[in-house]
Amino acid sequence: MKTIHGRTIEDWVARHPLIEELVALRETRWFNPAIAPAATALGEVGLSAADVAEASARLRRFAPYIARVFPETAAAGGIIESGVVPVPKLQRRILDEAGLPAGGALWLKTDNALPISGSIKARGGIHEVLWHAERLALQAGLIRADEDYAALASDAARAFFGRHRIAVGSTGNLGLSIGIMSAKLGFQASVHMSADARQWKKDRLRASGVTVVEHASDYTVAVEQGRREAASDPACHFVDDENSPQLFLGYAVAAERLAGQLQAAGVRVDAEHPLFVYLPCGVGGGPGGVAFGLKLVFGDAVHCIFAEPTHSPCMLLGVYTGLHDQVSVQDFGIDNLTAADGLAVGRPSGFVGKAMQRLIDGYYTVTDEALFRLLALACDEEGVQLEPSALAGVPGMARVLGDPAYLERIGVTPAQLANATHLAWATGGSMVPPAEFAGYADRGRRLLAASA
Ligand SMILES: *Cc1c(COP(=O)(O)O)cnc(C)c1O
Repeated sequence: MKTIHGRTIEDWVARHPLIEELVALRETRWFNPAIAPAATALGEVGLSAADVAEASARLRRFAPYIARVFPETAAAGGIIESGVVPVPKLQRRILDEAGLPAGGALWLKTDNALPISGSIKARGGIHEVLWHAERLALQAGLIRADEDYAALASDAARAFFGRHRIAVGSTGNLGLSIGIMSAKLGFQASVHMSADARQWKKDRLRASGVTVVEHASDYTVAVEQGRREAASDPACHFVDDENSPQLFLGYAVAAERLAGQLQAAGVRVDAEHPLFVYLPCGVGGGPGGVAFGLKLVFGDAVHCIFAEPTHSPCMLLGVYTGLHDQVSVQDFGIDNLTAADGLAVGRPSGFVGKAMQRLIDGYYTVTDEALFRLLALACDEEGVQLEPSALAGVPGMARVLGDPAYLERIGVTPAQLANATHLAWATGGSMVPPAEFAGYADRGRRLLAASA
């Protein structure tokens, strides 16, 4: 009989009933009863506010360089950041569909529009490449930390970086960020792409001079191949999406920036004005890093919830069973096949799952059909272009409002809920080619018409 960690599926379901929903690919949610106050749980992460401040300072040191080599960032002084926008029409559609009354306001964090690579990976991915480049450049005496880093745009600096390699495994967007940034600095970059990676992402990387290695297998295998390639070459830095503090810290910097943006928009966040943040989750580094930053900034006033496709609920499964990276969705017969390519991950990061488990309020799953319907609505009603993965956070508001038991447990009263801000992290999409996006939107509109 087939067993998973010594137990049959029936045995697992008896102990962890939600597994039945996951295996049946039904949309489901789980709010973790073991969450802890930020003051306690932040101490269990192994990284600190000082680490995030260091990452933030590094991004500021590199800003003059970024502004010089990516002119689209010059207006923002070389700081790579996106906006926050209210999406009232999308909110009404979601709540009407769920038959729920309002409870706060829905906003989007538009990382789809982040410059350079058009996704949340422009945070963590670019930070890690800059961290590595800075370390090499300082060691070699190519720059000093108090110098203008725009000097790194010189031919001499590019020639220096050209003697070093950077490798990564990716479903697409991380590869884009790492590849574009590495190639710009002059590194030799190789990106190991899983089978689900889009052709346009591979084409774009090759056009930037990046070596793209295509694999017929999924994300976990692509990462493994990248890790193996890097291990055989001491001049090669491997960006480990499953286990990288520098990626994680680059994502975490988002929180201090968001705090300033919400304040500027007149949105309060405190005990009387809770903030719910819905983060699409693949391996977990992006949403985990952002959530870590948010908990440092907003403490117990922020509630972070991860969203995954019904076909790839790896983080939910890992945290819920306590098996973390010792289990994959495939172990339970779930196929990890989804059009949400950034989220097509079968095995979660053990580092993120363990470090963050008491800081993440909950997890839910979304079908691909729902992602496409929301994609069409976001496009037609709010005028934003998102890729399928980036919609996963949007139904989160309805999942939370539809669960009074969870709200009661975390102590959010109806009056506080009326003051709440719900922020769906829109993780990618502005770089999707027009013809490809038109196909996504058409698919969504057909699904909407069929369900009307
Ligand atoms: C990578 C990605 C995510 C999730 O980030 P992980 O670090 O893999 O959890 C979400 N959305 C998009 C568009 C992505 O590219």
